[in-house]
Amino acid sequence: MPDKRLPDAAQHVIIGGGIVGCSVAYHLTRMGCRDVVLLEQGQLSCGTTWHAAGLVGQLRSHPAMTDLIRYSTELYAGLEAETGLGTGWKRCGSVTVARSEDRMTMLKRTAASARAQGVEVEVISPAEAQEKWPVMQVGDLRGAIWMPGDGKANPTDLTQSPASGARSRGARIIEGVQVTDILTDNGAVSGVVTDRGTIRAEVVVNCAGQWARKLGLMCGVDVPMHSAEHLYIVTEKMEGVHPDLPVMRDPDGYIYFKEETGGLVMGGFEPEAKPWGMDGIPDRFFFQLLPDNWDQFEILMDNALVRVPQLAEAGVRQFYNGPESFTPDNNYILGEAPNLRNFFVGAGFNSMGIASAGGAGRALAEWIVEGAPTSDLFAVDIRRFAGFNNNPAWLHDRVKETLGLHYAMPWPNRELETARPFRRSPLYDRLAAKHAVFGSKMGWERANFFASDAAGARIDYGFGRQNWHDAVGAEHRAVREGVALFDQTSFAKLLVQGRDACAQLNRICAADIDVAPGRTVYTGLLNPRGGYESDLTVLRLGRDRFMLITGSAQAVHDSDWITRNLDEGMHVVLTDVTSAWSVLALMGPKSRDVLESLSKTDFGNAAFPFGTHREIGVGYATVLANRMTYVGELGWELISAQRIHGWRLR
Ligand SMILES: Cc1cc2nc3c(=O)[nH]c(=O)nc-3n(C[C@H](O)[C@H](O)[C@H](O)COP(=O)(O)OP(=O)(O)OC[C@H]3O[C@@H](n4cnc5c(N)ncnc54)[C@H](O)[C@@H]3O)c2cc1C
Repeated sequence: MPDKRLPDAAQHVIIGGGIVGCSVAYHLTRMGCRDVVLLEQGQLSCGTTWHAAGLVGQLRSHPAMTDLIRYSTELYAGLEAETGLGTGWKRCGSVTVARSEDRMTMLKRTAASARAQGVEVEVISPAEAQEKWPVMQVGDLRGAIWMPGDGKANPTDLTQSPASGARSRGARIIEGVQVTDILTDNGAVSGVVTDRGTIRAEVVVNCAGQWARKLGLMCGVDVPMHSAEHLYIVTEKMEGVHPDLPVMRDPDGYIYFKEETGGLVMGGFEPEAKPWGMDGIPDRFFFQLLPDNWDQFEILMDNALVRVPQLAEAGVRQFYNGPESFTPDNNYILGEAPNLRNFFVGAGFNSMGIASAGGAGRALAEWIVEGAPTSDLFAVDIRRFAGFNNNPAWLHDRVKETLGLHYAMPWPNRELETARPFRRSPLYDRLAAKHAVFGSKMGWERANFFASDAAGARIDYGFGRQNWHDAVGAEHRAVREGVALFDQTSFAKLLVQGRDACAQLNRICAADIDVAPGRTVYTGLLNPRGGYESDLTVLRLGRDRFMLITGSAQAVHDSDWITRNLDEGMHVVLTDVTSAWSVLALMGPKSRDVLESLSKTDFGNAAFPFGTHREIGVGYATVLANRMTYVGELGWELISAQRIHGWRLR
């Protein structure tokens, strides 16, 4: 009997009955949580999950993500025995082929790192690949890898099975209920409003798939994602195609294949995706598809005909154009919202939700129960994004690139190209005029290297020596033997102020930061497991005033870590002043000489020792100079901060 009654209160409310929400419910109950309610506006799997192709491939660019999928394969293999509901899971293995030498190098590299993680993988020849996948022609191939542990599943059944497991341990799964608002109280989530009443909740988990961004906006939480069309076809029966046929990926042609009822599923990840849902995702987009889009599919079809020529004669049984949500970096979004306690997100699965849901659901359940991630999940941590990432126009342009990243060459040091330039320092144009080649971190444009001329101002990706090798060599030499100026404006700057700031920070930081004003301390932020959450410098500006300078990518994460670890009722205010303050670092053995030629300050060791800071004049500019270094040589950071009232209080 379907559960229809809505409770007034629950410990855990999960929004969304796709594969991810059901996996979270399953794992929460497996960890002993009994008061779990899952709300689904339509029916289980009706959103994106039902039309997934069902490939479960373990190899991902980040080890943590590979590891979670490895767990998924174990889970999917055992669910039927546990719940009695089939999942369609078949450990059919997968073949990934290389058309170019570079791709083969990449496959060998990924194979090596997968092996190190305990994932079974074998490098094979084109002929061996053809033995495993006889339907393809291999004349143009350089080699392949074989992963026996990969598989495929039926996404709808794979959703019902953990849902049933969760139900059997007490979870309530209620379909036909739409969450219309999220309730908050004093910085924490306190419940959900639905079209059938309100439920008070201690923890709310946003697993709403493509709708997750909208649910986030209801309570001020950024869940940066944008939908794009995602396409595959299913053919009529084809000769040589049988249920045990492995999954086959041909990333140089952007395509994948798997068997389905004697025909082939053929889909892919074209280099330029087509965004969808610019006016919002319709509420009742249940078991629906978008119109066929053969124009968008053309590049995939052309490549598929190269690999499987007999496709030209095969009839197409169905065209699937299903929208899916993609994030700015092609990694999904997991974890507790930095600005709303007990509000968790598991969404933005970039067309790997079926493969990832088992592991991601367990990781999120552990995060909820333990209060922190139980392994290094920064690659998918919601705190890697900031508010500016949630701008819809920016997301629209970025998502065109994100989808294609699945099969694009993951070159070392690869930079994303779309929706840039984005955050810029005041010196951006001057650096560009000096042939800077920019990379992007936390949205900031940062000079990766300076080419000697305009023609060289580009990155030639490759696995061998990089085209920037000599340019970076010259920069390195300048820093060791002379002096160099670094634009460090992107570094995150957090101002921590208040009566209790010193005592609280001193507990949160590993080193003693209760030093005299004017001193700078390099320290770590440690977690209870003895792990590093961050490392940063702490400048004591005054008795109750500190500036923390941390990594560009760490602004949201570190702000969250510090504020969540403040004791109740303490008088401490943290403000992210990154965009307001620019920083130039002058480093190298001659940095003192340069500064002395520009300033009347005594920069000698006795007058200006390491780990101290003070206000100085440099020409007409008044800056906060911090004697610090990141390069193993003498150096100062020059921080063009607006003066904070009383910062010279000593
Ligand atoms: C064409 C295509 C092929 C794919 N192939 C693969 C594949 O081979 N392998 C793979 O790993 N992944 C694949 N995917 C991706 C996979 O389908 C998704 O990543 C996955 O289904 C996402 O699951 P989810 O639970 O996050 O979202 P969904 O399945 O969309 O679930 C979210 C649910 O939340 C509900 N909801 C939303 N708002 C509310 C609200 N306010 N109140 C109550 N309920 C709400 C929705 O109705 C929906 O059912 C494919 C995707 C597409 C589009």
